[in-house]
Parts: sequence; structure tokens; C-alpha cells
Amino acid sequence: MYRLFLIIFLLIVLSFLLRQMFRGFRSPNRDIRGKSTDGADRQEELDEMIEDPVCHTFVPKRIAVIEEVGGREYCFCSKECAVTFQREHPL
Ligand SMILES: [Zn+2]
Repeated sequence: MYRLFLIIFLLIVLSFLLRQMFRGFRSPNRDIRGKSTDGADRQEELDEMIEDPVCHTFVPKRIAVIEEVGGREYCFCSKECAVTFQREHPL
């Protein structure tokens, strides 16, 4: 029984490492190709976790509230955080 848990644990770690490697190989390609966006890349970009600069929560870009403040885009977990940020950084 104990051995079974060990095997499952190893499989999870292995799949995680493989995913990390896969991403490592892909990201330089994206930089070379520049702004060309095929479906997979776009999806990956949307799944990216972004830190909310107000409450420091990590939110997937897909569901984040994106606001432009001072010509820069910021991602927030909620509209409240976006409003707080804009109040703290008046133009
Ligand atoms: Zn927040």
C-alpha cells in the first residue's frame, strides 16, 4: 500500500517536471516568433498567473480584471483592487 502511494507521488512529480521542461522549450520560440499568435500560444498566455499588485493574489490572466494605468497594463483579482490601485497611482 505504501509503495503505491510512492509511485503515484513520483508520477505526479514527473508529470510536473515534464510540463516545466515543455514550457522551457517553448518560451524561447515564442520570443523569436514575436507577436505571432496561434491558438495554443494564446491559450497558454491566458492561463498565465499574474500577481495582483494590490492584494498580491495570483490570478489567471483569463479571469483577471485588466486595467491600463499610466500606459501600463495591470491585472487585478477584482474591480475593487483595480479601483484601489488607480486611487493610489493617480496620473
Ligand atoms: Zn486583489
